[in-house]
Amino acid sequence: MFRLPIQIELLISNKSKLQAITHTGLIASSERSSRARRYSQAISADMSGHRLVLWFRNDLRLTDNALVHQAAQLIKKEQATEVVPLYCFDPRQFIATPWGNSKTGAHHATFLLQSVLDLKQRLQNIDSDLLIHMGRPEEALQGLMREGQQLTVLAQMEVTKEELDVDKAVRAALGHRGSLQLLWGNTLYHKDDLPYRSDMTDLPDVFTPFRSKVEARCQVRTPLPAPVQGSLPLPSNLDSAQLSSKPSSIEDLNVVVPEGVPRLVTLQRHPNAAIAFEGGETAALQRLKHYLWDTGSISTYFDTRNGMLGADYSTKFSPWLARGCISPRTIFQEVRRYEEQHGSNKSTYWVIFEMIWRDFFRYFTIKHGSAIFYKHGVTGQPRQWVEDEALFRRWRDGRTGMPLVDANMREMKATGFMSNRGRQNVASYLALDLGLDWRKGADWFESALVDYDVCSNWGNWVAAAGLTGGRINHFNITKQSKDYDEKGDYIRTWVPELAKVPAPSLFEPWRLSRDDQAKFGVQIGVDYPEPPKSRKQKPRSEFERFG
Ligand SMILES: Cc1cc2nc3c(=O)[nH]c(=O)nc-3n(C[C@H](O)[C@H](O)[C@H](O)COP(=O)(O)OP(=O)(O)OC[C@H]3O[C@@H](n4cnc5c(N)ncnc54)[C@H](O)[C@@H]3O)c2cc1C
Repeated sequence: MFRLPIQIELLISNKSKLQAITHTGLIASSERSSRARRYSQAISADMSGHRLVLWFRNDLRLTDNALVHQAAQLIKKEQATEVVPLYCFDPRQFIATPWGNSKTGAHHATFLLQSVLDLKQRLQNIDSDLLIHMGRPEEALQGLMREGQQLTVLAQMEVTKEELDVDKAVRAALGHRGSLQLLWGNTLYHKDDLPYRSDMTDLPDVFTPFRSKVEARCQVRTPLPAPVQGSLPLPSNLDSAQLSSKPSSIEDLNVVVPEGVPRLVTLQRHPNAAIAFEGGETAALQRLKHYLWDTGSISTYFDTRNGMLGADYSTKFSPWLARGCISPRTIFQEVRRYEEQHGSNKSTYWVIFEMIWRDFFRYFTIKHGSAIFYKHGVTGQPRQWVEDEALFRRWRDGRTGMPLVDANMREMKATGFMSNRGRQNVASYLALDLGLDWRKGADWFESALVDYDVCSNWGNWVAAAGLTGGRINHFNITKQSKDYDEKGDYIRTWVPELAKVPAPSLFEPWRLSRDDQAKFGVQIGVDYPEPPKSRKQKPRSEFERFG
């Protein structure tokens, strides 16, 4: 039975109404210490030796995981005696965002839960296990500390403020009785191998010089091996009830959300979903096998990567990469192995090329810190953003009247996924056509995407808004529709109101005559909206036009 619900809410009585305050993530100190006690009781007091905690975050895998490898090495060298793998469903990740969205939306939460449960299973397969804590890591870790025993917590290094704040809280909780060791993971090119200063102050602000230099100067390191049976010995006296306690659905996360923010509920797979994303290292390895060995789709990736419809036009690796269910180095190594047998071409290279973008945004974030979240971005260039909640909701819900934008926004809401082509277009449309505050768009993506990754999301968004100093891609939505959805199949999949409208009229339905509207069974302005007035893709002179 699931026994430790998240209690992120402080319930207070207000005129006989109970109000949930979730944004502060407040937990009374008595509650905190009682949790710590429960964990203490899970382990008897007479443990000796050095205890390691593998605190998993966005690295939910065993293969090529620096902390797992480090722990196995320390055990082998007898510098530690026991290993407690730990995952915390941290309430701070489930609060409402400043714009009122669930910080972790249902698609993301479902994938995350599946990933954690898969990790638990994989650890059990090697005679270890995963302790799943429904609460803050600093509480769980305090509970794992023993009198007279030093605790070393190993975790993957993160780079953004919220995660760094959690690191600080963990360090404070450990005090002098434990230490937090952060190890680099997550990227294709290791941070220490980069030809830049460790604070990235000399990193270029644009992608191409970064890519050229790292490709010329750096090697991708060989992935670290998966741990073998028995290499991560659990403390012999871990409470079996604690270990068997796990959430089985996202409803079990038991998150209280503020009014107006949807509760996390398990979603059915949408019939139009590109693929059924299943979280975890097991499914990640299956997807890798599918994309390379089973279908050979990687050999045509360069030609198909701008698609929007179907399972294999792109790799769909992003959700697994975002939660660390697979490492980019494992993908790299497998691509090389595939190339040896089936030949390399522009397509096989291009998958690696795209993963370098992912690295770029992580290192860019180290350089610019929280500026990637700021209204005026990293350039600090003041720009007026329109305040129009109704217009924003039209964009969010796929009712702008621009079919390509609407199809993509509906797909993301229904499935958690949107193609890269789609993301570029809807972001450009929000920021550069509608002129709405780009951060609201990024925030909605954070909530809605199954593959949400803080650096990739906010980095791409701040770039799309033209606030990085790099090239500004202002997309012509109608032209993009013609180029990438020539027959309109993608739009028709997600905008059934326009199902009978042939391309190219489909791309600009507001131009249909009344007779044509009747012929195609749609009344513009009634069944399907007109685009916002004065925003029918007039180029804005200050932005570079991009086809
Ligand atoms: C506004 C906006 C927001 C985005 N938010 C996210 C996000 O939260 N999480 C996320 O993983 N990606 C994000 N991306 C990047 C990209 O759109 C997705 O990674 C990609 O569409 C995922 O599909 P795929 O795995 O099939 O990609 P593929 O085309 O198969 O590419 C392979 C891998 O390369 C990486 N990649 C490709 N393009 C980019 C890029 N532009 N930036 C960073 N990495 C890239 C991804 O890890 C991807 O899985 C965003 C892009 C934009 C324009």
